[in-house]
Amino acid sequence: MPRPIEATIHLPALRHNLSVARQAVPDARVWAVLKADAYGHGVQRVFDAVRAADGLAVLDLSEAQTLRSLGWRGPVLLLEGVFEPRDLEWCSRLDLWHVVHHEAQIDWLAQHKTHQGHHVYLKLNSGMNRLGFKPDGFRTAWARLQALSQVDQISLMTHFSDADGPKGVAAQMDVYQSATEGLPAAHCVANSAAILRHAAQRGLPADWVRLGIALYGSAPDAPARSASAWGLQPTMSLRSQLLAIQHLEVGETVGYGSTFQAPSAMRVGVVACGYADGYPRHAGTEVGAPVLVQGVRTRTVGRVSMDMLTVDLTPVETAGHSPAVGDEVVLWGQGRDGAQLPVDEVAQAAGTIAYELMCALAPRVSVRVQALD
Ligand SMILES: *Cc1c(COP(=O)(O)O)cnc(C)c1O
Repeated sequence: MPRPIEATIHLPALRHNLSVARQAVPDARVWAVLKADAYGHGVQRVFDAVRAADGLAVLDLSEAQTLRSLGWRGPVLLLEGVFEPRDLEWCSRLDLWHVVHHEAQIDWLAQHKTHQGHHVYLKLNSGMNRLGFKPDGFRTAWARLQALSQVDQISLMTHFSDADGPKGVAAQMDVYQSATEGLPAAHCVANSAAILRHAAQRGLPADWVRLGIALYGSAPDAPARSASAWGLQPTMSLRSQLLAIQHLEVGETVGYGSTFQAPSAMRVGVVACGYADGYPRHAGTEVGAPVLVQGVRTRTVGRVSMDMLTVDLTPVETAGHSPAVGDEVVLWGQGRDGAQLPVDEVAQAAGTIAYELMCALAPRVSVRVQALD
């Protein structure tokens, strides 16, 4: 028997979350963002669910190639555009839309030989200061692209730094509106947080939106609001089992560094999951990260090690169960009985965000796919 840890990717939940986004922006076309191997879920695994999107957005040419080989004929967008002139050959061959965020990408396009007019996404740096043209260079870039025979369509985009927080999108939208005013183009500004929190309320221009983390069932503004409050369902479950049970006498410790000391006699469960499976080593350094054992919520105790972590079994016993080797442990997502443990809560206990946890699912964990109904 292989180690009993397993991840499950829930395609019905992905479908559902896509429809939640569609309800928030009913007139927009939706890019399902599949970068980072679909936020750790696997591009190929999620494909059946995300083909209900209007377009698929990726970072790497290899991801775009995968999508075409899976038979996707719809739009594919390269979110950082091309990295060298040769990449444009692939854009022509596979009909990929690509972001243009710096001058060199326009130079490469100007020298690219093609009969296929490209659809480009011209990116404005409206204040995040990662990628994009500053407002004063934006119209010049637009005019250069407009004059190229290699370019067939130009859409406009920007990316928000604070759509999930108190600062919001107002200041960046002011910059965007004045930089793009009068340019005849489709607009694509919203990420998940902006789709759920700002698109309808502020009337953001949304010919297209870019749906990432909410597709994967995590609340973009956790912990302020939970995924279930947004109507989102978990798309990845990480489940394992109890490998062993230890009785601790009062004062005994568990794990490396002896960081947890039993305040009274108690039992701890040893779980087949560690940081080499993608579980965050810093989860629960202070008070313990949440875990479900037999559907009962408890917490980690002691340090997370490479292949194992340990949990307090007291709440499980209090709930009337007698824990045993082989019992189901849910690290995040949902259990077989439907009990849920939001990945956002585990992320918070580890001082990080759900994006990082899902992207870090380790290759050694076997993955099962819950197919569409
Ligand atoms: C990753 C990414 C997104 C998706 O962001 P979420 O917060 O996951 O919705 C949108 N736009 C760009 C440019 C991105 O890189």
